[in-house]
Amino acid sequence: MNIGFIGLGNMGAPMAANLAAAGHNVSGFDPAGTTAQGVTVAANAVEAAAGADVVITMLPNGAILRSVAAEVIAAMQAGATLLDCSTVDVESARAVATDAAAAGLLAVDAPVSGGIGGAAGGTLTFMAGGFDAGFAKVQPLFEIMGQKAVHCGDSGAGQAAKICNNMILGATMIATCEAFSLADKLGLDRQKMFDVVSTSSGYSWSMNAYCPAPGVGPNSPADNDYTPGFAAELMLKDLGLSQQAAEAANADTPMGALALALYKQFVENEGGLGKDFSAMLPRFEARDRG
Ligand code: NAD
Repeated sequence: MNIGFIGLGNMGAPMAANLAAAGHNVSGFDPAGTTAQGVTVAANAVEAAAGADVVITMLPNGAILRSVAAEVIAAMQAGATLLDCSTVDVESARAVATDAAAAGLLAVDAPVSGGIGGAAGGTLTFMAGGFDAGFAKVQPLFEIMGQKAVHCGDSGAGQAAKICNNMILGATMIATCEAFSLADKLGLDRQKMFDVVSTSSGYSWSMNAYCPAPGVGPNSPADNDYTPGFAAELMLKDLGLSQQAAEAANADTPMGALALALYKQFVENEGGLGKDFSAMLPRFEARDRG
């Protein structure tokens, strides 16, 4: 396929390189001047999109997605597919899909989970929204860039799945960290705490697969001085998107709201910026009830 790839950042560059390595003809653009192995550099987004069968975007937020989409939709050939893999608000995903459809294009929103390691290794999970025809067209690309793709529903459904998942993740990470901090103050050994909880009803991915306590459980960012992994500020972004969606949909999400407030405080005032999101544990350790 001819592929235009717009946004060659930490995630986009390795994803584009994997598509090129698989034999696709990839033309990429990023205003920061970043490049990716095997990818032809385009002068701008319109040049990357012209003549492409699929245009992939991997961008920081919904406002940037909307502005890039406005440029590239006009430049894309009829019947081509616009595949956005960024994490953005559901409304932006739906607005871009509507504009793409009006221009005779297919649109798929497919945010990812798996982080930079998954992008480099081609093991991402894609959660996709959009018509069946669009999903079918990009499925071979998902197979190169990832190990699993779930078609979640119509446009916006991929973003909805992503932010609901990450709202659970943020809340369970906080709950796991505050429970470790309470256990410390009760004199409970952390290894014993892990042994019990990881095989009891308090278990979760945060505890079992990504334990926030150093030296306990599987290897995780806690064992590497909380170097991300998944940065606290990215969790903050996703929790903001889930609260924005909850407001728009009139959903009652008090745990998500509290998780957002705690990550905001952590990132903005408590040294969390640049740390893994599991560094909530030392944050709780350093506090008392106040
Ligand atoms: P990044 O900041 O490294 O990359 C974004 C790129 O977009 C940058 O290189 C930037 O120059 C480029 N860009 C900005 N404005 C642009 C424009 N107008 N036109 C073209 N390119 C433009 O971010 P990232 O870590 O690669 O994340 C990308 C997306 O993936 C985000 O939405 C993020 O939430 C999501 N995501 C990231 C991770 C992760 O672990 N990094 C995991 C899952 C999802």
